[in-house]
Amino acid sequence: MRNGNLFVISGPSGAGKGTLVAQLMQRVPDAWLSVSATTRDPRDGEVDGVHYHFLTNERFEELIAQDGFLEWACYSGSYYGTPREPAVRHMEQGVQVILEIDVQGAFQVREKLPEAHLVFIEPPSMEELERRLRGRGTESEESIQKRLRAAELELSRKMEYDIQLVNDKLDVAADYLVAFVNQQAETDRG
Ligand code: 5GP
Repeated sequence: MRNGNLFVISGPSGAGKGTLVAQLMQRVPDAWLSVSATTRDPRDGEVDGVHYHFLTNERFEELIAQDGFLEWACYSGSYYGTPREPAVRHMEQGVQVILEIDVQGAFQVREKLPEAHLVFIEPPSMEELERRLRGRGTESEESIQKRLRAAELELSRKMEYDIQLVNDKLDVAADYLVAFVNQQAETDRG
């Protein structure tokens, strides 16, 4: 059996990646979404093991030392990483593996697995991004400012991705993302 593909979805926090990825998972039955580990605090409604594996700094650093992550990064003052074993196992089972990770992680993945497909999700504008971040109502002002600064850095690297997708109208962006994943999976299957 051929290995599944790896798709990396990045873009600024607030660009709507989460919603787009949720649509992708509903519409592509042979896709599996990696659950990242993080040291940030859970937001209201987030469940350990479902949205993230919430770890202490000590445990996260232990896993780094054991090479337990396919990639990891510091983002906005917390650690985030992709547990290696489940991602590799699903690819070996022929499943399309989806990672929703930041740009630092995306380029680490490309170095290790050059065949990975990198998708960048863009907000329509910085003003709209700020509006969405504030609209969540879950971030402190400090966190919003940190995320806006991180967004500028991320946007400066968008052209290094395989495709860029502006998330203006959710349905249009979701259709495009689903078509891209299906098409690549089909092509790579040969
Ligand atoms: P949030 O705190 O809003 O859930 O996520 C903040 C940023 O961390 C987002 O850009 C998200 O894509 C990224 N992120 C989530 N999980 C991972 C991961 O496993 N690795 C890396 N490098 N970034 C991640």
